[in-house]
Amino acid sequence: MTRAVHSGESPDAVTGASAPNIVMSSTFVIDEPVSFSAQDKPDDAPYVYSRWDNPTVTVLQDKLAALEEAEACRCFASGMAATSALLLSTLSQGDRLVMSDSNYPGTAELARKTLTRLGVDVVLADLSDLEAAAQAITAGVRLVWAETPANPTLRLTDIRGVAELAHSVGAEFAVDSTFASPVATRPLLLGADYVVHSLTKYCCGHGDAMGGAVLGRRDKLKNVESDGQIYMGGVISPFNAWLINRGLATLPMRMQVHQTNATRVAEFLEGHKKVKKVLYPGLSSHPQFDLAVRQMDNYSGMLSVQVDNGPGLVERMMSDLKIFHYAVSLGHHRSLIYWLGTDDLMQSSYALEGPALIAYRAFAGDGVFRISVGLEDPEDLCDDLAQILG
Ligand SMILES: *Cc1c(COP(=O)(O)O)cnc(C)c1O
Repeated sequence: MTRAVHSGESPDAVTGASAPNIVMSSTFVIDEPVSFSAQDKPDDAPYVYSRWDNPTVTVLQDKLAALEEAEACRCFASGMAATSALLLSTLSQGDRLVMSDSNYPGTAELARKTLTRLGVDVVLADLSDLEAAAQAITAGVRLVWAETPANPTLRLTDIRGVAELAHSVGAEFAVDSTFASPVATRPLLLGADYVVHSLTKYCCGHGDAMGGAVLGRRDKLKNVESDGQIYMGGVISPFNAWLINRGLATLPMRMQVHQTNATRVAEFLEGHKKVKKVLYPGLSSHPQFDLAVRQMDNYSGMLSVQVDNGPGLVERMMSDLKIFHYAVSLGHHRSLIYWLGTDDLMQSSYALEGPALIAYRAFAGDGVFRISVGLEDPEDLCDDLAQILG
């Protein structure tokens, strides 16, 4: 709690202001010549230009590093900017990437379309299954990428287990920990080399600023900084960094309420006659509940639910939900719900076949409503869902 409030911040040396300033300046007046090349930039360089470094972004990076117990953090304009910065600064033509076969659609499509076009060998595997992971993670793999809990199945990846597999063949391991947030899981402490967050979600927490982050060891983040931030240039606006920094102060408290509320909604849904299956890492019915207990300090506010005639409920939800917003995204104080049909996702993003498709359907069936449980009174949320389910 204390780190979330104080890390990265200090009273302003000139004015004594207690809250952080927003420094919108794109350039900085310098008193000794500095090189124009990012290659020559020392770690303790003064502020020169806001695509390189910005004081408000530094506050956010330092706070996130403290929460993830990371040596270093670099922030970006969105979660996808962070994801592409890490993938494109790490992988070269001919390298092999092993990625979980269901994850955030933007990440899935970036790997399947863009990275393959650039000559990266993309291997998809169900990393929630350690045996399948061991088969895919063999000599010659450069990077392993897992998302846990994964979108939209809420499948979990054993971070310690996959980190060992990756390191045994000389590969690095990156974890998209957006659904967990630094409150639930700290992947670097479990052996991961990089953590990626869409800050747009729980870290911001209020649905009003986009951002992304990559965290890890300082030496490993050098390329993410030079290629990802300085050359590709997807840097975060200082204003968004300031909003997200403010959101982080209440992240530990918010995650407690997200968990309490999600547990209540999950139990309500599990007991409802129209509901076929609820997937929530905090329920003992989750197929990987043991791993959730081991790996997660908080079960977060994300759950997926299969119901009778899911697609048939979508229009009613759009017109009749009183509290939930029918909208994508997650981790906001407002509750959100969205339909993710399996056939649509297979066509647009995942293209799984055979055993991989069977394994996906074992979690998601024909499709799920992905629910991001917010901070409202959970009884109001249950009532709102009850009037739709009937
Ligand atoms: C939203 C999300 C992203 C992408 O983040 P943006 O901020 O929307 O670019 C990546 N991974 C996961 C798991 C997400 O939920």
